[in-house]
Amino acid sequence: MNTVVAQAAPAPPAVPTERRLPVPYRVVARWRETPDTVTLRLDPVDAALAAFTPGQFAMVHCFGRGEIPLSVSSLPTTGGLAHTVRAVGAVSAGLCATRVGDVLGLRGPYGTGWELERALGQDVVVVTGGIGLAPLRPLIRDAAAEPRRYGRLNVLIGARTPEDLLAKYETRRWPTTYTGVTVDRARSGWHGEVGLVTGLLDRARFTPAHCRAFVCGPEPMIRATARDLTHRGVAADHIRVSLERNMRCATGTCGHCQLGPLLLCRDGPVVDWSRAAPLLSTREL
Ligand SMILES: Cc1cc2nc3c(=O)[nH]c(=O)nc-3n(C[C@H](O)[C@H](O)[C@H](O)COP(=O)(O)OP(=O)(O)OC[C@H]3O[C@@H](n4cnc5c(N)ncnc54)[C@H](O)[C@@H]3O)c2cc1C
Repeated sequence: MNTVVAQAAPAPPAVPTERRLPVPYRVVARWRETPDTVTLRLDPVDAALAAFTPGQFAMVHCFGRGEIPLSVSSLPTTGGLAHTVRAVGAVSAGLCATRVGDVLGLRGPYGTGWELERALGQDVVVVTGGIGLAPLRPLIRDAAAEPRRYGRLNVLIGARTPEDLLAKYETRRWPTTYTGVTVDRARSGWHGEVGLVTGLLDRARFTPAHCRAFVCGPEPMIRATARDLTHRGVAADHIRVSLERNMRCATGTCGHCQLGPLLLCRDGPVVDWSRAAPLLSTREL
């Protein structure tokens, strides 16, 4: 009998102890993005955590409720450390309900980043679905701040309804080559696109052989987008995707977030599509 056992990737150096302990951060600003999503800007009460890079995440502790992974949606270098959280369960709803002045526990930074530097001199294609815009916001800001370092910048945004669109006022100000916004369903009064975010790829301006793509959203949207990009000629290892699995320790120890040979808290969440595609085509038990 053939038994296939997923081999864990070689372990990188252990996470330093100080990154396993939550440190207090105060909510210094809070704004509602959509009916179920809030952005919290946080300042350290004492010492700050080490610097995050776009795409990395923190374990955010809501006292009395628990702890969840949240990507950074803004960095201290560009507007202050912020997390954007959608209320889907006990902890995320608790975080959405916090007020300015409340204190949360944060540990991190954890995981891999988008690595925008790989796109130097290349066209950039950012494709987001729903809350997936939040982890890509710092990358878009970095690329928009230094347009001469990159080729054409395209930002494609999808959401379920117009009410679910994040960062509405900010997206209009991004100096991109092309910004496209589409929704799955709209009531009267919406004059924009209706349809899948992949439908916007025809309007984006990029040369497939000279582009880097960054994709974040629900997993079916990630698959569809990455497949469409590869069919257009973008190499699978030029597409970076952010994957989510249930995470607990965030230090590569507990195994909750295993995907084939990867522990996504340590080897992800951002991985090349060339690495992710074969793993996502295998049904998990
Ligand atoms: C690396 C990483 C970064 C993330 N960044 C963000 C972010 O920036 N903003 C944000 O709003 N959310 C983000 N999430 C998702 C967030 O962590 C979950 O929504 C949260 O853990 C839900 O916890 P809860 O206690 O509120 O709800 P629960 O009661 O634990 O879950 C509610 C529902 O959400 C599902 N769920 C729980 N965790 C996940 C998950 N990780 N992936 C998919 N479905 C899940 C559950 O199956 C359940 O159906 C991220 C997840 C990961 C792994």
